[in-house]
Amino acid sequence: MSIEIAGVSKRFGEFVALDDVSVSIPSGRLTALLGPSGGGKSTLLRIIAGLERSDSGRVEIEGIDATDLPPQRRNVGFVFQHYAAFKHMSVRRNVAFGLEIRKRPKHEVAARVDELLKLVHLEQFGDRLPAQLSGGQRQRMALARALAVRPTVLLLDEPFGALDAKVRKELRDWLRRLHDEVHVTTVFVTHDQEEALEVADEIVVINEGRVEQIGSPDDLYDRPANDFVMRFLGPVT
Ligand code: ADP
Ligand code: MG
Repeated sequence: MSIEIAGVSKRFGEFVALDDVSVSIPSGRLTALLGPSGGGKSTLLRIIAGLERSDSGRVEIEGIDATDLPPQRRNVGFVFQHYAAFKHMSVRRNVAFGLEIRKRPKHEVAARVDELLKLVHLEQFGDRLPAQLSGGQRQRMALARALAVRPTVLLLDEPFGALDAKVRKELRDWLRRLHDEVHVTTVFVTHDQEEALEVADEIVVINEGRVEQIGSPDDLYDRPANDFVMRFLGPVT
């Protein structure tokens, strides 16, 4: 099982954002889409999420052809750089939102929310408003919210980009631990080489709308596919 992207292209007017991209993203792993700004990472993530349609090609998610499915039928959870919380709702209700709109029974929602708040170490903060959390805590809330409906795939677009370096490092370690606990297929976008190399099991290097290489951090360092990958990863420090 995996996310299979086959022959996906996307143009914005004359500009080719993705050029016949085919890549297989393994199931149950933590995969980074890494590359310089403007390379097409977010566009690819949004196509996987169903938030953007490709001009051609196919997207298969865990054995299901998702090419024509709307986002809410893909069973994916997302977290974006700028968290989108309901400001007037408590942390609990923010986390519960996806379950409530699916009309799950109240006791089931309450139990799941308790479990999630514990998972992201926010059990003390359920009654606060999002504005009363730190930036790092808010992103943890966003993670809990994305995981609430037990998605088969978790998608994160520069999830820690807006945070300062120390918190970013903390959350990075924390995403790794969370993934080791939950094992949900996770794809995160980053332009930060160090972040990808430290956190990801697999890295898909994307540049100018094309996949330059896919491999483990060791593969990329020891066997860079081309000059671009070698230059982009830079000297080993
Ligand atoms: P990345 O996430 O790697 O920085 P993006 O996928 O956001 O790159 O964007 C790739 C290219 O496509 C960029 O040059 C960007 O300006 C362009 N692009 C992305 N979305 C749109 C859009 N909705 N309309 C026009 N151009 C877009
Ligand atoms: Mg982006």
